[in-house]
Amino acid sequence: MFRSIRFVPLTIRLFAGRIARFRVWRIDNVRRKLVVGNWKMYGRLARNQELLQGVLAGVRELRGADYAVCVPYPYLAQAQSLLQGSNVAWGAQNLSPNEEGAFTGAVAPGMLTDFGCKFVIIGHSERRGLFHESNEVASAKFDAAQKAGMTPIFCVGETLAERESDITEQVVATQLDAVLDRAGVQALSNAVIAYEPVWAIGTGKTASPEQAQAVHAFIRRRVGGHDPEVAEKLCILYGGSVKAANAEALFGMADIDGGLIGGASLVAEEFVAICRAAQK
Ligand code: PEP
Repeated sequence: MFRSIRFVPLTIRLFAGRIARFRVWRIDNVRRKLVVGNWKMYGRLARNQELLQGVLAGVRELRGADYAVCVPYPYLAQAQSLLQGSNVAWGAQNLSPNEEGAFTGAVAPGMLTDFGCKFVIIGHSERRGLFHESNEVASAKFDAAQKAGMTPIFCVGETLAERESDITEQVVATQLDAVLDRAGVQALSNAVIAYEPVWAIGTGKTASPEQAQAVHAFIRRRVGGHDPEVAEKLCILYGGSVKAANAEALFGMADIDGGLIGGASLVAEEFVAICRAAQK
């Protein structure tokens, strides 16, 4: 109708400008939810195929959130071939901080990207506890994952004894600072933080939405002390016995941007129901 902006009446131009500004503001301030399955050391070829097909069928029509599964190394090729081109990404659960070398049994970052991994879980409490992974090693892995082009999902969280001693924030701050000190706050622009209280992982005990929200808000404030914009956009997942029955309440909290799901990610209907909760 109007061939040149000069001929558009001023009132219309001002109104359109306001709408445009409003839309940019909305896009900048809305964090997309993310739901990631952590299969841990579970799976077999036939079972995986059934599970992934069930997940794909259930989330195919979902929009407005992102989904991924982190599978054991031997099944990365299977995940890649079944999930390629879908709205479900895939990744791994660990990696070596080294590019290559004489590290028997270890898996290099470039090997994960060879199989199309978008995500890699770093510093999961099972790695920290059972494999004695320190904050230093976890932050080196974070760095290596980013250098290879993947998005690290960096796990933090306190044990029951630490919560009962009222040092949750101190523990989480130390874990987070390991990354901030090594990689710098800008590195968090392409990373996900997962708050996983150790006492809630695989135990059936979930943190209440308020308990989780308090720690998520603490994490965002701490990152915000370095860079408010990075903090505002940072995706912070909650993990620890998330199920279809509690996902909606958790995901409804202001600073909870989705979930890292262990046991419930091994059952297609349950995982899909959690993904659906992220839509709301
Ligand atoms: C996990 O493995 O990261 C996890 C949160 O496990 P679960 O959901 O089984 O507690």
